Amino acid sequence: MVCDPTGGVALETIAVIEGLIACFLLGVVSLKLRFVDLSGFAAAFAIGILIFAVPPDGWKWFVVVLIFHVVAAQFTKYKYVIKRRMGFAQEKGGARAWPNIVANGGFAALFALGEGLWPSGLLAMGFLGAVATATADTLATEIGLLNPAQPRMITNLRRKVAAGTSGGISPLGELATLLGSVIIGLAALLLGVAKLDVYSMGMILLIILLAGLVGCTIDSLIGATIQGMFKCAVCGRTTESKKHCGKSTQRIRGSGIIDNNMVNFISTGVGALSAVIVFSLL
Ligand SMILES: [Zn+2]
Repeated sequence: MVCDPTGGVALETIAVIEGLIACFLLGVVSLKLRFVDLSGFAAAFAIGILIFAVPPDGWKWFVVVLIFHVVAAQFTKYKYVIKRRMGFAQEKGGARAWPNIVANGGFAALFALGEGLWPSGLLAMGFLGAVATATADTLATEIGLLNPAQPRMITNLRRKVAAGTSGGISPLGELATLLGSVIIGLAALLLGVAKLDVYSMGMILLIILLAGLVGCTIDSLIGATIQGMFKCAVCGRTTESKKHCGKSTQRIRGSGIIDNNMVNFISTGVGALSAVIVFSLL
């Protein structure tokens, strides 16, 4: 995108056309494979276009988001059989609806829009902080399930909780958090999303790592405190879901509004902000 001197923005036609084609093709494939439902398709399309067409060299930003999706999908599949045997594999049945897409990509899109309006590299760091948090959180959940010992509650490390419990942390999960952030940081550096004229590559990588760590820690803290938890009357399991075994569940703690999507939305926002703050302080 090119900023004109009047303060308005002029989108590059070619970037818009490329973005429309890329988002449409990927969206249709995701719809066909039932990764998303129609509302998820619409949300992903809007977010995708913003990220592809608005910031300078937006296609590079778009590739970073694609890397998040590919990495998340790979690690969800990783040792899927073991995780399923343990009973923790994500239910694959439901296609993602718009709240899930906005929860993971909303802040990334906002910061992409911001960088397009005020291109300085600062808001690009926010975008990377948001994507790093989403990636780190997904890997922490998927890899953390394989930790040999039970996770411990982030608000009370003496308390052991069942694997997969919101707010539970484990050494393997924390390592996975770092891995997720490193993948996004390296992708950003190799593609040239983060500006390198002022700060060294190591510093950028460190900021993204820190952002992912802060975002995921907030995710765990909210999960341990105000996130709504429910009990299934059919199988007796505690769940984050308002529905289980095909029936409505009973809320046992936390807020009914703070569901998993809301937690992800807040934590990616915090990850984004911490990257922006640290970058601007250095
Ligand atoms: Zn149940």
